[in-house]
Amino acid sequence: MLRCDGDRVVIVGGGIAGALLAKTLQNHADVVLIDPKEYFEIPWVNVRAKLDPTVVERTVIPHADYLTDAKVVTAKAVGVDDSVVLTSIGRTVGYDFLVIATGRTCTRPQSRPERLEMFHRDKDRIAAASSVLIIGGGPIGVELAAEIIMDSPDKRVTLVHGGPRLLMVMSPRASAKALEWLRSKNVTVLLDQTIDVDLAGTGDGHDGQRDFTTSAGETVSADCHFVCTGRPVASGWLRGTFLGEYIDAEGRLVVDEHLRVGRLKNVFAIGDITDVPEAKQGYLAQRHAMVVSRNLRLLLRSAGPEHKLHRYKASKAAITVTLGRRDAVSELPFMSLVGHIPGVVKPRDLYVSRTRRMMGIKGSRNGES
Ligand SMILES: Cc1cc2nc3c(=O)[nH]c(=O)nc-3n(C[C@H](O)[C@H](O)[C@H](O)COP(=O)(O)OP(=O)(O)OC[C@H]3O[C@@H](n4cnc5c(N)ncnc54)[C@H](O)[C@@H]3O)c2cc1C
Repeated sequence: MLRCDGDRVVIVGGGIAGALLAKTLQNHADVVLIDPKEYFEIPWVNVRAKLDPTVVERTVIPHADYLTDAKVVTAKAVGVDDSVVLTSIGRTVGYDFLVIATGRTCTRPQSRPERLEMFHRDKDRIAAASSVLIIGGGPIGVELAAEIIMDSPDKRVTLVHGGPRLLMVMSPRASAKALEWLRSKNVTVLLDQTIDVDLAGTGDGHDGQRDFTTSAGETVSADCHFVCTGRPVASGWLRGTFLGEYIDAEGRLVVDEHLRVGRLKNVFAIGDITDVPEAKQGYLAQRHAMVVSRNLRLLLRSAGPEHKLHRYKASKAAITVTLGRRDAVSELPFMSLVGHIPGVVKPRDLYVSRTRRMMGIKGSRNGES
């Protein structure tokens, strides 16, 4: 067991939120990060990476590259009590402060090389296919359809979406613009239809042409397919523990204005797993991490009067969905935009340089900056 001595902060989940928190706290506390992967990744680059795997060289980053003064336990957390986290490798990790940052369920390989290889396999599958089926018309499905059709206008791309409009997280105007853009590029979009995800397989794509039948009885033939439906929140491991009572109907952890779970004095939650009433976005998960980082530094210095703790205020998120390399639809707090302008709002490098700077990562594994 890893024992603690008053200033141990255990962070469960090394995604956008947990990784940033670990990085900013490592010189102020005895930090332990528990994550089943040996690396941190920038998820919003993953769609483009299916067409151009070279981009992930800079976005799949070993935890060891930015955590120079923290311990990393490569395992899943499988249980917790009021002082210890239990991991899938049988190791227990004691804590003084606990931060839950497990985001959404997602199975990823443990090592960086295996992860990079996945993107190369996707690229090969797409390159070999003359027809591609995408299931799910949320931001990921729309971005993937747009990337594929811009890269290879001759491919037959079909997007099947269960709702009455694409991009339900955005305004009807933004949905209509995305639909118009995709249809103008000859992407077939089938709305209000579903395809049984189990019959379609849960993987990222399969080789060889296959017929898929939609809920409306239409047949879609495709050489490869991608399932881009939403993933549930990764709170299953907390059910049956003392934190189970703070999980809401959607699986999210109920936090207070200081991002503490319930009103527990030493347990926080950040990122997509929280019930903060706002769109689940990476840049907001980073803001959660910074608020909790400041609060933990206060609490580590002293018992910290309650009124000094920083508050997190939910924001109306700005959401930008890219449509290939130049266009995008953007939902800003007071308007929606479509075309080249939002394509500028979200820079061409998809905030990779900015995120790397935040994580204090200079240069890259192959020498570029
Ligand atoms: C394709 C795509 C495009 C996106 N585009 C944007 C965008 O343009 N802008 C934007 O701001 N946001 C975007 N988002 C949303 C953004 O990525 C998420 O809001 C953000 O990743 C949430 O961060 P998180 O740290 O809460 O969770 P995650 O990033 O999901 O990280 C969760 C971490 O927890 C780990 N974990 C899970 N279960 C356990 C366990 N039991 N024990 C230990 N570790 C565990 C996982 O391995 C993972 O490392 C996009 C998301 C996707 C998938």
